[in-house]
Amino acid sequence: MSKAKSASSNQTKAKKKKRNDFFFVCKHVKFSWGLIILALVVGCVQSVITSTVPDATANLFDGDFSTSKLWGVAQTLLITLILGLISYIVRVFAESKSTLAARKSVWERMIHAGMDYYDANDPASRLSMITVDAQTMGAGLVQLFVSIPTYAVLLLSCVIQLLTVSPRLLTILWILIPLHILYFFVMGRWQQKVGAQYTCSMGDLTGYLAERIRNLPMIKNFATEEKEDENGIRATGWLYQVMITYNVKVGAVIAVYQTLSTVASTVLAVLWGCHLLKAGEVALTDFLAFSMYITTINVTMVVISTVWTFVKDFSGRATRLAGLLESSVEPHGKQDKGSTQVPDGDLTAEGISFSYPTASAPVLSNVSFTIPQGKVTALVGPSGSGKTTLIKLLERLYAPTEGKITVGGTDISTLNLEAWRKKISYVVQDAGVFSGTLRDALCYSVDRPVSDEELHRVIAEVDLTPFVQSLPKGLDTVLANWGGSLSGGQRQRIVIARAILRDSDIYIFDEPTSALDPETANAISRVILQGFQGKTVLIVSHELNFIAQADHIVVVNLGEMAGAGSHKALMQSCPVYRNLVEEQSYQEVFGA
Ligand code: ADP
Repeated sequence: MSKAKSASSNQTKAKKKKRNDFFFVCKHVKFSWGLIILALVVGCVQSVITSTVPDATANLFDGDFSTSKLWGVAQTLLITLILGLISYIVRVFAESKSTLAARKSVWERMIHAGMDYYDANDPASRLSMITVDAQTMGAGLVQLFVSIPTYAVLLLSCVIQLLTVSPRLLTILWILIPLHILYFFVMGRWQQKVGAQYTCSMGDLTGYLAERIRNLPMIKNFATEEKEDENGIRATGWLYQVMITYNVKVGAVIAVYQTLSTVASTVLAVLWGCHLLKAGEVALTDFLAFSMYITTINVTMVVISTVWTFVKDFSGRATRLAGLLESSVEPHGKQDKGSTQVPDGDLTAEGISFSYPTASAPVLSNVSFTIPQGKVTALVGPSGSGKTTLIKLLERLYAPTEGKITVGGTDISTLNLEAWRKKISYVVQDAGVFSGTLRDALCYSVDRPVSDEELHRVIAEVDLTPFVQSLPKGLDTVLANWGGSLSGGQRQRIVIARAILRDSDIYIFDEPTSALDPETANAISRVILQGFQGKTVLIVSHELNFIAQADHIVVVNLGEMAGAGSHKALMQSCPVYRNLVEEQSYQEVFGA
């Protein structure tokens, strides 16, 4: 690497290190700043009025209980009370709306994040970003932009009020303020570090448990309950340790600080006030007002420093959100300037090379082939050759590092992403069915009203009629209760029926029958081959049924092109294909 390059990368690293993730998130999420400003203004007005309460109350000690004076004090208290209530309500709304905005942004970014983000981040930890982290951000934002300024205004107003009462009494603040500032810095740093540890541990635990809970039957299959029991207990133990540090150690320091500062400031105030009182430098009402002010000032400083330490803690927790917000996003909505006119025609890969962002080694090198329009093409090759990767490139989940893919001569990277993906239906071996009714599962991603008649016709096409008739509520049976009892074949038929209903132009099947028994696999392969006639169909499969009946076969081996053509031609010209066929006893069907 050149010197200039390494210097600039060092600078970038330094910049990255300096960035405060909390402010980074604040900048990138559309928070309701109007509501936050309203909460701030109401809070500040409340602070200014609250700061007049001690003086007004202390003045009662001069023995003047006239109605106008009492009414003045009552008015001040009443206004403080009303403003307090309004301020509370506005703050609650500001915090809830901020959390909502954070959740919306996180969800939107997650949905549109590029595959590199999904590859690099554990799916389970993403869940706590929406639930816990977003809420933490909402609370943190209000603390920082409403609570701290509001208390700062209260502090300033009290100091100003105290100045008018007696500047001599005020000198005590020069001892108290530096102590609080020292606490700000020391605690802030510590709390930020512990906050980050807590978030990581919580994310790790959520991820660990979510994965195990999803695969509980597998744990039973392997009879590893005892081991998993221990692992789970150990994982919760880590979280316990961090929670102890967080809640006990940090909490204890905060409590000690609050008590000490309150006691110290009260003692100092009494000593200093009595001294000035004895010396005749201040009046009794001033001394009483001073005592009340000093208590309010101290409480305010304690609250500001506590809130500040929490803001530092939130900064620690914002790191994960910042990571998401700066990740790459796919073009979507109005930002996607690609053409929505997707042409028909052959799909062609021209000199495709590709490496995954998380791995340096190339997975595909200079691969070229054609998938003829309206025909069935089989993509074959040994496991790990890059077949699924090629499909991901076709779907534009990743972009080739070299070469291009065209449809009817148009580079697919110039097309509107949503329009392009809608042209394709992608069926994988273990495709999911979201919870909901059978009707919901069948119509998922179908952008048009579908009549019961059409649904039943498609259900018959995929041989699911007896199964649907056996369901208590037919199409309206909730699959969440049935998901566990759906067989692999039933689920795959539902997924294929959904693909038929989508009525796309291009169908991609990735090992659609490899997890099924031979009889079901045969039935499903028949459905695939007959149900999509006239469509462009690409099938990745080792199954003889598909390969034998494909119009065209593309063979890849170790990320490179090994051949393309008909079965007969490939048997003669492509050793990789011949080996595959021979190894899997394809001769029986081909009669070779
Ligand atoms: P096939 O479908 O032919 O079995 P794949 O396309 O799934 O092959 O994988 C080709 C190679 O790419 C394999 O070595 C695999 O480990 C690697 N690979 C697949 N997905 C990723 C990924 N998300 N990140 C890094 N490497 C990957």
